[in-house]
Amino acid sequence: MQQSHMLINGEEVASSSGRVEIIRNPANQQPVAEVAVGTRQDARLALQAAKKAFPIWSATPSLKRADLLHEAARLVRERAEEIARLLTLEMGKPLKNAKMEVLSSADVLDFYAEEGRRNFGEWISSSHSRSIVLRQPVGVAALITPWNFPVDLLAWKVAPALAAGCTFVAKPPSLAPLAATEFVRAVCEAGLPAGAANVVHGPGGIVGAELVENPISRKIAFTGETQTGRWIMAHAAAHIKRVSLELGGQSPFIVCPDADIEAAAASAAQRAFSNMGQICISVNRIYVAQEVAEQFTELLISCAERLKIGDGLQPDVDLGPMFSRKQRERTREHVADAIEKGAELLTGGREPEGKAFEKGYFFRPTVLGEADHSMRVMREETFGPVAPIMKFKTLEEAIALANDSEYGLAAYVFTNDLKTALRAAEGLEAGGVGINVNSVVDLQAPLGWRKESGLGRELGHHGLDAYLETKHIRLGM
Ligand code: NAD
Repeated sequence: MQQSHMLINGEEVASSSGRVEIIRNPANQQPVAEVAVGTRQDARLALQAAKKAFPIWSATPSLKRADLLHEAARLVRERAEEIARLLTLEMGKPLKNAKMEVLSSADVLDFYAEEGRRNFGEWISSSHSRSIVLRQPVGVAALITPWNFPVDLLAWKVAPALAAGCTFVAKPPSLAPLAATEFVRAVCEAGLPAGAANVVHGPGGIVGAELVENPISRKIAFTGETQTGRWIMAHAAAHIKRVSLELGGQSPFIVCPDADIEAAAASAAQRAFSNMGQICISVNRIYVAQEVAEQFTELLISCAERLKIGDGLQPDVDLGPMFSRKQRERTREHVADAIEKGAELLTGGREPEGKAFEKGYFFRPTVLGEADHSMRVMREETFGPVAPIMKFKTLEEAIALANDSEYGLAAYVFTNDLKTALRAAEGLEAGGVGINVNSVVDLQAPLGWRKESGLGRELGHHGLDAYLETKHIRLGM
């Protein structure tokens, strides 16, 4: 069986406890690889290696850093097939989606290679002094990521951290660490100094906690559940560390009466069901103007029923299994709770039948009608392929319903009227609003969330700022 070690100080390292864990394919429970289960001691060694490498990497000219990041991107592209296959085997997503994720992570490296070259300062003239403003790397960064996009979400942190001159220790998700580790391995092999890029494996509550609590790390970049983010923010406070948090969500999707209903239904279906609904920006609650609700609902059902489910390694599959039993159970519970409270099950709501699905965590894309805010599926993060629909009468009502959540991640509006689009975009309490699109992710634009969905921004030039400190040098004249 394939072995996945940790990467510490440029070397392949087994756990100091000697423990390993078997990673299993969620499509059939077959073992995929054996992975080292790291300890607090391993995390400390990785932090010390990153600390030792920091003076070397931060003093490397930004042009040289850019060359190395471009080389890293080239290596990731060269290994894209192999990394994508691991990604499908460990977390279930279809191979074509896994490949897109890996290729997109190479684009992120290229983008920040160039952004790092533009880390300019300022020059300010006053009457008795001159001020120089420098933007310097914050130090050692701890990068902690979830299993739903283990490569891309790590690339969003690795690339700006390195471009800014930070060194890092990454902690990929315990049960899907393989592709992310291969990604960092490729980055290391581009020619980084030993210790600039490290990976430790193991439980979040142990290895992740050490990365957060140890005074060596000066920045914590985290993507994961709101509850974990809360813990991280509280513990980072002990050393006043910088934190970026990309957390849970409950994203609304508003369909206005003047919208292109076919486009809206296809868009909603794609964003509610792709990756089995296990995306932070998934469509979680659909609010449809009552006059177009019937047409929209029929179209959404037919989109859901057309999707092909199966083992992600099969070439023509749209949806793989869910990541874990726990994910599927929560989805099932949310659907049952909604039905009990009066929702209408319009399609899905259970596993697909047949031998091929017996051992995997499969679930059919589900559409619920007559949803309301008493249901868990409308309030909590399901993280499963479920699209509940609720009707509305006025735009004000739809915005109020959309904002009736502790989360403030993405929000979507479908309309062909400019004023409606702007009124909704301004009124929605979300970090990103998509108008007639079903994603708010763009490498060149800031991504981040409001309320209990997070803090700070990734991507765009804002993503680089997250790894820089401002220093003022005042020169008496
Ligand atoms: P999670 O919070 O359980 O784990 C995320 C990572 O944190 C893992 O590597 C885990 O090992 C680690 N961790 C757990 N406890 C820790 C601790 N005490 N200290 C340090 N690290 C710790 O999340 P998950 O189940 O892996 O991922 C799903 C969640 O991620 C969902 O809530 C989803 O919305 C969220 N997510 C958010 C975004 C976004 O951009 N907002 C993107 C993707 C996923």
